[in-house]
Amino acid sequence: MLDGPLSDGATHALEPRDLDRLIAALRGRGYRVIGPRLGEDAVVYDDIAGTADLPAGWGDEQEGGFYRLRRRDDGALFGYTLAPQSWKRVLHPPRQRIFALSTGAEEVEMAPADPPDAPMALIGVRACELAAIDIQAEVFAEIDPGYVRRRESSLVVAVECAESAATCFCASRGDGPAVTGGFDIRLVEVVRDGRHLFLARVGSVVGADILAGLTCPEADPADLAFAADRLGRVAASQTRALDDSAGRKLGDFALHARWDEVAGRCLACGNCTMVCPTCFCTSVEDTTDLAGTRVERWRHWDSCFTLDFSYLHGGAVRPGAASRYRQWITHKLATWHDQFGRSGCVGCGRCITWCPVGIDITEEVRAIVPDENER
Ligand code: SF4
Ligand code: SF4
Repeated sequence: MLDGPLSDGATHALEPRDLDRLIAALRGRGYRVIGPRLGEDAVVYDDIAGTADLPAGWGDEQEGGFYRLRRRDDGALFGYTLAPQSWKRVLHPPRQRIFALSTGAEEVEMAPADPPDAPMALIGVRACELAAIDIQAEVFAEIDPGYVRRRESSLVVAVECAESAATCFCASRGDGPAVTGGFDIRLVEVVRDGRHLFLARVGSVVGADILAGLTCPEADPADLAFAADRLGRVAASQTRALDDSAGRKLGDFALHARWDEVAGRCLACGNCTMVCPTCFCTSVEDTTDLAGTRVERWRHWDSCFTLDFSYLHGGAVRPGAASRYRQWITHKLATWHDQFGRSGCVGCGRCITWCPVGIDITEEVRAIVPDENER
């Protein structure tokens, strides 16, 4: 929905009831509003009707192979760090019908793929998630008009992180925690001194138009200074890091003994690829009805960790977990540069949190690529 430069560079202060007005305005403009809410003992991104649906007073704890919701005492609406599922789920859906063919009495009829979705307003997008959306937009630019249509019609209300999870390392990737672009409206939630505010800045003409309709006052400089100082602390609190130049060297260590070591722990479950906001691999399958009069082709997420994914003429090219893990991490951190001009990792940490055995991408790179500073 980014449609050009905007007007007033001021930051405005919204109260929670103004956020409700913002959501109502988006719904009034025909957007399907999707934001964080509680579900399945986690924060999930799903349809919301107002602030009452947001996970008020809930945060999370994350570590390798560990995720728990936890109660907060400040009533923050965006006090969690990252939901398990990324925005990939709505912009690059797990299952999509590509086409359907059916035989009528006289002729074969070709049905189009699913009709265009309603434009979406994505509420609560974090900095690393915006970077991931940009990466997938680049991947799909020439090959998936559905993705391009969904992204271009989506309006993004980003919310900057007020804290990092233990698994976050976006600061070392240059993809967070500051939200610097790619949004229509950026919010920074501030709960202090008995006040609950959202410092709002516009990033597009549409965002400016919507925010202007709310007529909210300009933010207090003291609140802006507080938010800037906190953002610095959020970045500094990240204990994990992944150096881009180290990741790019992984291809030089194709025979390293660590691949077998990590394969001894890896279950080849594919969780890391499912939760990763940039992984994009899919497979297609055809289905028919029992009468044989209708066939559909569906595209669904797949993973380089499955045996079938590298099946070629009589066998799998990557038969074991060692070669599959090596394929995933070297593509993500090294050859992705050759394809798309940057790494495929934004440092969200989901693959660490949701790996059932806690395999840590930052630790694996350190174990394989020698640290030049220690030579
Ligand atoms: S590789 Fe892991 S940390 Fe990097 S973007 Fe994917 S899920 Fe996030
Ligand atoms: S690294 Fe972890 S999440 Fe990924 S396939 Fe192996 S066990 Fe599953």
